[in-house]
Amino acid sequence: MTESTTIRWEQDDTGVVTLVLDDPNQSANTMNQAFRDSLAAITDRLEAERESIRGIIFTSAKKTFFAGGDLRDLIRVTPGTAQELFDGGLAIKRNLRRIETLGKPVVAAINGAALGGGYELALACHHRIALDTPGTKIGCPEVTLGLLPGGGGVVRTVRLLGIADALLKVLLQGTQYNARRAQENGLVHEVAQSPEELLAKARAFIDAHPDSQQPWDRPGYRIPGGTPANPKFAANLPAFPANLRKQTGGAPYPAPRSILAAAVEGSQVDFETAQVIEARYFVELAAGQTSKNMIQAFFFDLQAVNSGANRPRGIEPRQVRKAAVLGAGMMGAGIAYACARAGIDVVLKDVSLESAVKGKGYSEKLCAKAVAKGRTSQEKADALLARITPTADVADLAGCDAVIEAVFEDTALKHKVFQEIESVVAPDALLCSNTSTLPITTLAEGVERQTDFIGLHFFSPVDKMPLVEIIRGERTGDEALARAFDLVRQINKTPIVVNDSRGFFTSRVIGHFINEGVAMVGEGVEPASVEQAAAQAGYPAKVLSLMDELTLTLPRKIRNETKRAVEEAGGTWTAHPAEAVIDRMVDEFGRPGRSGGAGFYDYSEDGRRTGLWPGLREHFTDPGHRIPFRDMQERMLFAEALDTVRLLEEGVLTSVADANIGSILGIGFPGWTGGVLQYINGYEGGLPGFVARARELAEHYGERFTPPALLVRKAEKGEPFSDSVRP
Ligand code: NAD
Repeated sequence: MTESTTIRWEQDDTGVVTLVLDDPNQSANTMNQAFRDSLAAITDRLEAERESIRGIIFTSAKKTFFAGGDLRDLIRVTPGTAQELFDGGLAIKRNLRRIETLGKPVVAAINGAALGGGYELALACHHRIALDTPGTKIGCPEVTLGLLPGGGGVVRTVRLLGIADALLKVLLQGTQYNARRAQENGLVHEVAQSPEELLAKARAFIDAHPDSQQPWDRPGYRIPGGTPANPKFAANLPAFPANLRKQTGGAPYPAPRSILAAAVEGSQVDFETAQVIEARYFVELAAGQTSKNMIQAFFFDLQAVNSGANRPRGIEPRQVRKAAVLGAGMMGAGIAYACARAGIDVVLKDVSLESAVKGKGYSEKLCAKAVAKGRTSQEKADALLARITPTADVADLAGCDAVIEAVFEDTALKHKVFQEIESVVAPDALLCSNTSTLPITTLAEGVERQTDFIGLHFFSPVDKMPLVEIIRGERTGDEALARAFDLVRQINKTPIVVNDSRGFFTSRVIGHFINEGVAMVGEGVEPASVEQAAAQAGYPAKVLSLMDELTLTLPRKIRNETKRAVEEAGGTWTAHPAEAVIDRMVDEFGRPGRSGGAGFYDYSEDGRRTGLWPGLREHFTDPGHRIPFRDMQERMLFAEALDTVRLLEEGVLTSVADANIGSILGIGFPGWTGGVLQYINGYEGGLPGFVARARELAEHYGERFTPPALLVRKAEKGEPFSDSVRP
């Protein structure tokens, strides 16, 4: 029998076999070919030596228990190689089934993260014990990568928890549980506090349950809560499609639908057939474009961005100990909370102590909520709040090693505020501005140490939004960039790095999305259809409602400033058709957006949206004017994608991963696309298909859809947007 190193066989003299997952070639165990071969060999050996075995424990020698499918393999699956994936997957499932039905107790001693394939392996064990460490995360997150658990995860969670709980607690949301919550939700049986206790409990289970079996292999077993064959259960089933719609907004995410189908169909047949059904749905998703897009973005690009692919090399990492946050308004209050949560002492300064205290009040509210929901302890919340010192006194900023400015959006004010504090804070303090639109290079002119000045663009609400856009001004040094990057990681956010330009990347590109939606209203398209088009394209916020949130006067202000800058530089300003609509909304109808109580929508006294303003139909809509729904969606998606390519051409963006991640996490570009440049890569017909379609849109809707030279060149060379082939 071949001895495998990927799964190590350790047998003691009491007949307990511990199978130690320990891939010698990787830092984590994955379902790669070596694992498949090892599992097959181990299964044969278990069967051959069955008589001398009393029980089996799966555990791992790595920090994680088992990391699941190898995404580098999965992203390469094509319809042509799908059969191979199907066969390989089924072979693993059959081997796990052989172990599960060997007639010996099988225990998973989960000593770290068991996500996806890792949890599926544990599900094939009769008893699951999880080590209670911060690294232990349990669940099936496949849906977040456009996939389904294809290693028996659908089949077994349905049989373990019942269809409804399997779908809602495990499969459809991809929730990752810590050890305690995994136990509370029925994903594991026990929790252990130490590695020794983990193994002791595993052995105790084997001693006490020599005839252990899976529940579904016991005589008379029925799926908890019933199956669709039962009329009582069937009465609940229609709620699921509605839940799905709520989850996907009608956008093209195929995974939740396939998961639902695999769960329901699999519940009505025997175990083996259910495994085959699950495998078919899995392979179909893996061979499709959406899972490739989502794996690219949420795994590879996110990893590249967070690991510092764009951080200058050779600069020692640094941690911030004490930060000054200037301005305790909406953004400043949120930034103070994010810093304090990461253990940084914060001096929160506003013009009056009263305003600063009010800003700290925001953290108090968030902490109280977190304590009430059991997400943190009172002790931790108190410690967090103790780290925030509200003040109106510049002298309190002494010793701060980073400054984050978030006062009103006004260059002169920002200059003044930095002048007041520069000589008070630490002599090498990092100087950051949270401006959303003002050029960093101009703001830097207000300080002595311009090389230490940088843009740190947070998104609202700061505690929820995971992205920070770092903006490098013309004079920003490498050291400042590296330190800004480290600070963003220190507060557990994702940093993208761009060069200075009006609106940077995110504000400029989201402007194109909004303009396109507003322009369609101006052309006479039914406003409700415009909103539907955005929702069904997968945008988290409908376009006109987003415009109302941001207020209609904001794009006007930005437009006027940009226009002035373009004309001063000797250029000609090309008006966007949205401008006339916004001008009429503000000047003629007095509807500046939500904060003004009226915009594209009507609002109740207490600020709730009550419906689209009926006046839109009267003043703008032309019932005879219809454009294809697909055009409506693609006008918004293409407007953003094309401008992103221009930003690459201009050198504002320097990395494809930054563009993809920034677009999804910062400005709501639909996740199924894999981000704004991956959308182009994955478009039907690839880059040439995208270019042809852009030309078609340009012909019908305006020259702004003309593909930029960089895109045309890449399409001709057949070269997708990727960081290994930089534009
Ligand atoms: P805000 O009006 O809520 O808060 C600004 C705060 O700055 C107020 O509390 C004000 O009292 C304070 N302030 C004014 N002068 C000051 C001074 N001299 N010293 C100290 N504090 C002073 O504004 P906001 O929405 O928090 O925006 C702040 C900055 O963040 C702006 O530059 C804005 O463009 C940027 N930003 C905003 C958003 C957003 O969604 N609101 C997103 C990203 C960036």
